[in-house]
Amino acid sequence: MNLYKRGNIFVISAPSGSGKTTLCNKLIKALPDLKMSISHTTRKPRAGEIEGVDYFFVDKETFEKMISNNEFIEWAEVYGNFYGTSKSVLQQLMEKGYDILLDIDTEGAKNMKKLYPESILIFILPPSLEELERRLLNRNEDKDIIKKRLSKANEEISNYKFYDYVVINDNLEKAFNELLCIVCAERLKTKKIKDDEIEKIFKK
Ligand code: 5GP
Repeated sequence: MNLYKRGNIFVISAPSGSGKTTLCNKLIKALPDLKMSISHTTRKPRAGEIEGVDYFFVDKETFEKMISNNEFIEWAEVYGNFYGTSKSVLQQLMEKGYDILLDIDTEGAKNMKKLYPESILIFILPPSLEELERRLLNRNEDKDIIKKRLSKANEEISNYKFYDYVVINDNLEKAFNELLCIVCAERLKTKKIKDDEIEKIFKK
């Protein structure tokens, strides 16, 4: 039954190491009418990352050209690389009638809320900074990068009050269920119901 309006925009932010990517992937897999908005980035692909699936990987020159052509809804510099949400990517998903999931930083999330006040902002927190550090160390990343990510985490966490929801990822299944609850509750809001469909069902 096609009773509910789609086109909801869910924005997820989290300090690096909070389990955000795993949670987003689980959510996309569980909900076929929720699609990830694929960002453009100047960051080099990590092992296993696929062009057009994880990101659209572009060079700095291309990214700057896209900025000057006004092709981004929002963009930000994160850890020395550029990341941006392209207007055409978002538009295509909207035209297809999907709900959209954006995994972007706190600056991007604030910009999305300004442009789309109806967007739903979700912040994922690690259980503690110690646990975050432990998870980052487990990734075998460069010590300097870990340091940068930890100091950015502190700054990012202070932004949680701008968000509509906060999920603490101390247990993956619990955090995943909480995310599902948020998406379901937002989708079931009265204003998201197609009145004409209800009338069709209950007409006398
Ligand atoms: P990573 O390099 O680990 O994939 O992502 C680094 C950070 O960039 C993450 O916090 C991620 O949410 C953010 N990010 C990814 N895509 C975008 C985007 O399109 N816009 C903004 N503002 N941030 C993004």
